[in-house]
Amino acid sequence: MCKPNQHPDNMDSRIKAILIAEGSADIEPELLSTSKALASGPSTAGPGAGIGSFFFRSGGHLVRLEHRRDPDAALIVRRIDEEAAVGGMYGGSDDAGDARIAAGIDENGDTGNAGDVDADTHTAGNGDGDDVVIFYKGRELVRGRIEPALLHCPEQAYITLSESCIFDCTFCPVPKLGGRTKTADEVLRMVDDAYRTGNLRAISITSGIERSPGEEVTRAVDLVKSLTKYNLPIGVSVYPTGDSSIRLKEAGAVEIKYNVETMDREIFGRVCADMDLDFVLASLKDAVSIFGRNRVFANFIIGLGESDRTVREGVETLAGIGVIPILRALNLHPLRPDLMNVCPDAARPDADRLLRLARFEREVLDAHGLRADVAETMCLPCGGCDLVPHRDV
Ligand code: SF4
Repeated sequence: MCKPNQHPDNMDSRIKAILIAEGSADIEPELLSTSKALASGPSTAGPGAGIGSFFFRSGGHLVRLEHRRDPDAALIVRRIDEEAAVGGMYGGSDDAGDARIAAGIDENGDTGNAGDVDADTHTAGNGDGDDVVIFYKGRELVRGRIEPALLHCPEQAYITLSESCIFDCTFCPVPKLGGRTKTADEVLRMVDDAYRTGNLRAISITSGIERSPGEEVTRAVDLVKSLTKYNLPIGVSVYPTGDSSIRLKEAGAVEIKYNVETMDREIFGRVCADMDLDFVLASLKDAVSIFGRNRVFANFIIGLGESDRTVREGVETLAGIGVIPILRALNLHPLRPDLMNVCPDAARPDADRLLRLARFEREVLDAHGLRADVAETMCLPCGGCDLVPHRDV
């Protein structure tokens, strides 16, 4: 059973696992207004599309949580100077006393500790107002800061080109959202705005499939060519085509992500009926020969009903061809209740499973001489949604 450490000021891998497993938190809207530098509104890509979120940093780790207003939520985020109110929420219970003691709150509601402050955190200019405490089931779990996103995540312009998809993977809300496709000018303006903040470290491009995979690759190639002027690392995540890797590499991308979604072939056939796992795997192998080791990634969803053994074998297979898997907790999206028809055992993984599999992946990457902490673009340097080997475990 995952239990928080004895020093709740700093997030560690166990606390991060608990936060990822829960996935969402009750947070005041005023705190959210300080959490975004440029990005606002919900994510537009992948399984988290359509859902608003915020980033929490503590002890050198970053986590992304969906935000909701729900006083009964397992996770509750409060400003450091307002945490007494949470004690009040649990007034009369034993937990209330424990939470107040753990938070260092005296009888007058004063705190003895301002929490940890990351000097390199880029705040939205609200000073100490970003210092928060997170309560888990009424007890203090961890202290840290709300970190502003730039475009989608901190320090990156991570932009979705086409917000619709002709594929219909049953865990993914994008086909149901049927969003629009951004113009090249629009994307260039967004990146320019992000660049002018002085906080932009990388550019990441992803896309659904508006009409065909080839058209999305061409869209990404053209954009990458016009984004190299910023002299920042550029990463791309699309569905592969026969020549997508070489074209994106020649355009100026330095990293690539082709998602396998699951390495359980039987489940893959049920949830990703429009995709071809063998083709994705062959494309990943080809991408390693073009981009190099440590530069090719694949999202691998945990929670579709696959066994740990399947995950372990899948991680070995991917690492064996030089690919770094990104083990991503399943997000059960309200727009995809049909997932349960094809995957009746689907469930968000608990903290113990997330930690166990992330530690296993770290061992496998080490055995293959791969490093997840040298990635410069997309999800590995962000780490908001996952336990990242070499960073978190
Ligand atoms: S880990 Fe990836 S999907 Fe999650 S917030 Fe960061 S960039 Fe976005």
